[in-house]
Amino acid sequence: MDHFKYKGDSLFAEDLTVSDIAARYGTPCFIYSRATLERHYRVYAEALAGHPHKICFAVKANSNLGVLNVLARLGAGFDIVSGGELDRVLTAGGDASNIIFSGLGKTTNEIRKALDVGIHCFNVESEAELSRINEIAQAEEKIAPISVRVNPNVDAGTHPYISTGLKENKFGIPASNAIDLYRNAAKMDGISIMGIDFHIGSQLTTVEPFLDAIDRILEMVDKLDEEGIKISHFDMGGGLGVPYGKEEPPHPSELIALVREKFTGREMEIVVEPGRSIAANAGIFVTRIEYLKKSEQKNFAIVDGAMNDLIRPALYGAWQEIVPVEKSSKAAAVYDVVGPVCESSDFLGKDRELNIAAGDLLAVRSAGAYGFVMSSNYNTRPRVAEIMIDCSDSYLVRERETVAELFANEYMLPD
Ligand SMILES: *Cc1c(COP(=O)(O)O)cnc(C)c1O
Repeated sequence: MDHFKYKGDSLFAEDLTVSDIAARYGTPCFIYSRATLERHYRVYAEALAGHPHKICFAVKANSNLGVLNVLARLGAGFDIVSGGELDRVLTAGGDASNIIFSGLGKTTNEIRKALDVGIHCFNVESEAELSRINEIAQAEEKIAPISVRVNPNVDAGTHPYISTGLKENKFGIPASNAIDLYRNAAKMDGISIMGIDFHIGSQLTTVEPFLDAIDRILEMVDKLDEEGIKISHFDMGGGLGVPYGKEEPPHPSELIALVREKFTGREMEIVVEPGRSIAANAGIFVTRIEYLKKSEQKNFAIVDGAMNDLIRPALYGAWQEIVPVEKSSKAAAVYDVVGPVCESSDFLGKDRELNIAAGDLLAVRSAGAYGFVMSSNYNTRPRVAEIMIDCSDSYLVRERETVAELFANEYMLPD
């Protein structure tokens, strides 16, 4: 469910036509819907109501300050993977005590900063990281709350690039070493053990891998308990998929209902770190057709947006729906929708039947997560504008970059 719908022939973002938004802010651009973001957050909040919980939006999915601020106002927590994301969350009004710090390469400066502002928990991914956090905490006369990211070795059945819970992945601590790590942590003066966590991958379309991993990790919680190591929060990561096309992932409320069954009689706080399932369908990417081109084999719609703006199709072969912003009765043909970047992988969609002409606008749906955040300046292309729609109001939440900004920090050699 999102708020990008046709009324008559026109695609709307909430109460505004996408055509009007594009005319005002230019193309390419990302358009986000506040109502959709809020709705997706509330689905988790309602499903978890009545059990202690935290919903920590995975900032890496969409780190725009406007987006983070909308969620912070709802009381969201945040899952971060860098010091930069920490600054963004605090600037956007997020509460430090609701921040979880994930990621396997935390630097000394990042750890110090997170300790200083008093985040909720560090999700630890190695023995060496645990020692480093302990040393920094002791030097600062603080106690660092930690959770250990356990690799449950379950196959999430997703794309290999976004699968993270298998033995061969670089993430987490193998289940066989985790108990030892907790024993060590329990002896460290700078560490307080809070939780246990896992994150098995992204764009998961079935509940089984989650439920499997939960069973495995709960067994570990009980073993730890027998040794006197109490786990007060259970963080099941993010990773729930969204319907980009024909996939039918479980609704978050369905997943959470099944998860809650596993926690009957357990007081532990349930933590979730959804990114994609909150933000993906709350955004579209809007691009204008510059040229139509016919080759012997193919029709191409050459658009002003490209892989540097939205890399998921090029990077993962991801399929995202592409629709005309204004429906028309123009002749239909099958097109590859491609950008101007000098790479053959520069496409937004292949073999799409569209009724279009040069100058028309296209919308790539489900672009609110892993869209703008993965964009680059390849081919000296300024990163595009981001716009937030709130009912019949539109707000520029990120200016389109200028070319001058792109090389403002570069220097030529002296004469
Ligand atoms: C990427 C990531 C998430 C969010 O994943 P989604 O698939 O966007 O829900 C959550 N937790 C961790 C540790 C991550 O790396």
